[in-house]
Amino acid sequence: MNKKFLLCLLVLLTVTTATFANANKEKSGSESKGDLASSQMELPKYVFVFIGDGMALPQVGSAEIYEGAMKGGEYPDAPRALSFTKFPVQGIVTTHDSSSFIPDSASTGTSIATGHKTLAGVISMDEKKEVSYKSIAKIAKDKGMKVGVVTSVSIDHATPAVFYANVPSRGMYYEIGMQLAESGFDYFGGGSLADPEGKKSKLENKPGNIFDYAKKNGYKVVNTYADVMGLKPVEGQKVWAVTEAPADGQALLYEIDRKENQLSLADFTQKGIELLDNDNGFFMAIEGGKIDWACHANDAMAAIQDVFAFNDAVQKAIDFANKHPEDTLIVVTGDHETGGMTIGFSGTKYDSFFEKLQYQKMSYVKFDEVLKSELSKNPELTFDEIFNLTEANFGLTKNESSNGLQLSAYELEQLEEAFMQSKTPKDSRNKNEEYYISYGSYEPYTVKVTHILNQKAGIGWTTYSHTGTPVPVYAYGVGSSNFNGYYDNTEINKKLVELIN
Ligand SMILES: [Zn+2]
Repeated sequence: MNKKFLLCLLVLLTVTTATFANANKEKSGSESKGDLASSQMELPKYVFVFIGDGMALPQVGSAEIYEGAMKGGEYPDAPRALSFTKFPVQGIVTTHDSSSFIPDSASTGTSIATGHKTLAGVISMDEKKEVSYKSIAKIAKDKGMKVGVVTSVSIDHATPAVFYANVPSRGMYYEIGMQLAESGFDYFGGGSLADPEGKKSKLENKPGNIFDYAKKNGYKVVNTYADVMGLKPVEGQKVWAVTEAPADGQALLYEIDRKENQLSLADFTQKGIELLDNDNGFFMAIEGGKIDWACHANDAMAAIQDVFAFNDAVQKAIDFANKHPEDTLIVVTGDHETGGMTIGFSGTKYDSFFEKLQYQKMSYVKFDEVLKSELSKNPELTFDEIFNLTEANFGLTKNESSNGLQLSAYELEQLEEAFMQSKTPKDSRNKNEEYYISYGSYEPYTVKVTHILNQKAGIGWTTYSHTGTPVPVYAYGVGSSNFNGYYDNTEINKKLVELIN
């Protein structure tokens, strides 16, 4: 669609806004199907941008293979598990930043939110950290749309921040929180704050605790399950909904660790839809942030379960789109790949056994806590003692077993070596090249457990950081055809801006 055409549409839109608004009040969205005016109007009124942090094809494919394996399906005949992989429009984007093919979430988020390349660590500013770029969310706000930002990690983390903040460094959590409170955006939902009091901030005149500052700026701040779920739209009310159970990094719990009555990414997304729905439309950015964290730690099962949590959030948008098919656009993408995850491992040759992952009962973070607590109770903890807990929580066993998780002598040796490292106080460990390649900066024993389980399933990892693998884009609804093809991540922004401008 060219710009002239869009300009004409804008004029048409302006002239007839009042008419449409009235017409929409009288009809529910789906009944307006076939309305000549609305069928000519290929501009979305409700825009969802979902970003699976660290999610590229290996993460998406692994979730689908796991689901297929659990249903007893033989891949590739296994059913597609994820709603967004069924979207009619699909593209692929490159993710490099201004200086590297291995970008971070700040630079890739800046590309998606503002259409500009920048350096790793920079939040919606140029490489010299002088010029602030205006995000699609701010453009939407200026257009009179309501705006929401949702994430499963802390709300001041890089990916959500690129939509409402401009700072030279992603580590300036306090300054990012201040800009959140000053943004005027209508809804924030998800994780808590990394630095609400500004303990790490060098700022001289701090406005105090960020939650209090947000309240002063008119935000209703809620942080219990009942209060979040009980939120109802109130005219002119800005809302900040925070998880009742801030976990590692002030994030939501990993999906694999979350209990039924604890808030999920889908809950925060659904609440956003309810609060933002209005005649002028809305823009919502939603991040599945812990897919990335699980992949940094090389924990496939935690990553897969968080892809499912992300998918559940996308489903809320699809349900909304089904009620407003003439007006809704959903774009789902990743910002970069994390972990160098791949489907295939030398030990399993031409086979995969994803069903073996089902014996993992908790995330690497929760198992780290188990290990830490056992070691603090008993510094002389033996390998056999920790191994019993490993068997209970990951299925790995020394005995013959029908689940295929019997360890070889080589694997047992690797586990014992990793346990000796974990037993050694952190400062006394010899962190040489081999140590780093084996464990990264993670707890050696836990990393080795997930590595071995993942390898038995046929999953390999190459890094504890990000990779330069291109990522997929899935689009559905009004204007979605624009997202077809192979292009750069900055183009996602340009296409969105064209569609809402
Ligand atoms: Zn990352």
